[in-house]
Formats: sequence, structure tokens, C-alpha cells
Amino acid sequence: MEKTKIIELLNKRMAEEWLAHYQYWIGAYVAQGQLRPDIADEMNAHAAEEREHADKLATRIIELGGVPVLDPKQWFSIANAAYIAPISPFNTIKLVDDSDKGELQAIANYTALAKALDKSDDQVTYLLIMEILSDEQRHHNDWVMYKKDFDLIKS
Ligand code: FE
Ligand code: FE
Repeated sequence: MEKTKIIELLNKRMAEEWLAHYQYWIGAYVAQGQLRPDIADEMNAHAAEEREHADKLATRIIELGGVPVLDPKQWFSIANAAYIAPISPFNTIKLVDDSDKGELQAIANYTALAKALDKSDDQVTYLLIMEILSDEQRHHNDWVMYKKDFDLIKS
């Protein structure tokens, strides 16, 4: 894979991280309903990690001689993940569901990038992507556990 292509893909992932960061950040403020304090804490923890992912991606883009996306207006057009805005009444069950959709998409995006990088000469970026991928897997697992809790509360 060409360096310019790697930079382009890292910028897409960075745009997705900022959108994920904001979705969690705002979700923690507006969440209402079952397990709200726990879920708000979890969302804040995830928001911080998505922001760290954006930092790591920007750092690597610069190391490769690229320029991180400069204008947030571009985030929506280059991201390969939907931004799911919370909708009133901001039910935690729905917020968790939407959060997990985002994590599954992130896992798919990073898995595809890792596979492409594995065969490339850029093993440093490959390792970075694997590191982020394992965080996204953990985020997914966090929401799976909450979904199980919701099912138990219902039963
Ligand atoms: Fe992330
Ligand atoms: Fe995540």
C-alpha cells in the first residue's frame, strides 16, 4: 500500500474517532433511564479513549509526512461510520445499542485496515491499528455486558 493511501485511510479513521468521541461525550450528558450513572461513566471513559485514538492517528499521520484533517466539516464525508445522534428521551437502552453499532463498525474498519497493513512494509502503523482494534473490541464487550444487564432487568 502506498504511503499516500495509508495517510488517507488514517485520516478516515481519525474522523470516525472524533465523531465517536462526540457521540459518547454528549451521550454521557443526556442519558436517562436504567443504569444511567454507570452508563454515563462508561461513555465518558470511552469518549476519552476515542479521543486518545484520534491523537495516536494524528501523530502517525504526521510521522508519515501527511496532514491530519483540518476541517471538522470533512468528518462526515470521509468517515465510514454513521454518527448516531441521541434522540429524546435519550433512553440508555437505545444509547447503548447505538454505541455498540458504532463499536462494531469501528472493529470492521480497523480489521480491514489491519489486514491491508499486515501485507505492507509499514509494520509500525500495523501495530498501532492492532492496538486501537483491541480497544474497540473491549468497548464492544463493555456494551455487550450492559445489554445482558438490561435483559436481566427486563426478565
Ligand atoms: Fe476508537
Ligand atoms: Fe470504541
